[in-house]
Amino acid sequence: LVVLNKVNKHFGALHVLQDIDLSIARGEVVVVIGPSGSGKSTLCRTINRLETTDSGTITIDGRPLPQEGRELARLRADVGMVFQSFNLFAHKTVLANVTLGQTKVRKKDRATAEATARTLLDRVGVGAQADKYPAQLSGGQQQRVAIARALAMDPKVMLFDEPTSALDPEMINEVLEVMQQLARDGMTMVVVTHEMGFARSAADRVVFMADGRIVEEAVPDRFFSNPRSDRAKDFLSKIL
Ligand code: ATP
Ligand code: MG
Repeated sequence: LVVLNKVNKHFGALHVLQDIDLSIARGEVVVVIGPSGSGKSTLCRTINRLETTDSGTITIDGRPLPQEGRELARLRADVGMVFQSFNLFAHKTVLANVTLGQTKVRKKDRATAEATARTLLDRVGVGAQADKYPAQLSGGQQQRVAIARALAMDPKVMLFDEPTSALDPEMINEVLEVMQQLARDGMTMVVVTHEMGFARSAADRVVFMADGRIVEEAVPDRFFSNPRSDRAKDFLSKIL
């Protein structure tokens, strides 16, 4: 579904993505881990073209990423993204946050969009918060609204960049549970996270990055019990 082929990117002299080859099948859950600065966020951001690339190709459903304009808005709808900071529209209600993209980008009428929004808000457990503003919600609730907002666009793939890193500990599980359910429902997902429990239980594949390269990839059991590269062994010894 998503194919990266020899993708390279520089920030000035820094070679932040180096010959990245990565193929994500429909329904697959790929967890990306690695040290700080290894390029995990940049990798996510190139997939929905929040970052440009210097060389290589990225295709979604066989089509190269669009460069601009209306096509780009559609791409961002097809590739849902959830960030560490929830990025909700502060001056709009929860319901409006989840309705907006549906009417603007997907051209749904308001009633249909609101019905979809309420269904999704219920599904992530914040249906009762629909008429509140983001600041009136807990971090975990806000992040679940952000997930609902991305899902409302009926995305082909969802990207999560450390979705629980900004949350108080007691709110992490409620967000991870929503993500677990999404994975079970067959959503194609790329998840950057330090939550190794989630990686073990939800991932089909773990991708380990260091210094802008994919150093190792494996099914979680194999990766966590028997990492092959020194970089991965070193990383795991620090976090487990
Ligand atoms: P973390 O675990 O800390 O989130 P990461 O693996 O997500 O790290 P990236 O955010 O992708 O890492 O950053 C990779 C490298 O690129 C870092 O050295 C970072 O400083 C640099 N970088 C990221 N964005 C930019 C930018 N817009 N301009 C210049 N350098 C950048
Ligand atoms: Mg990052």
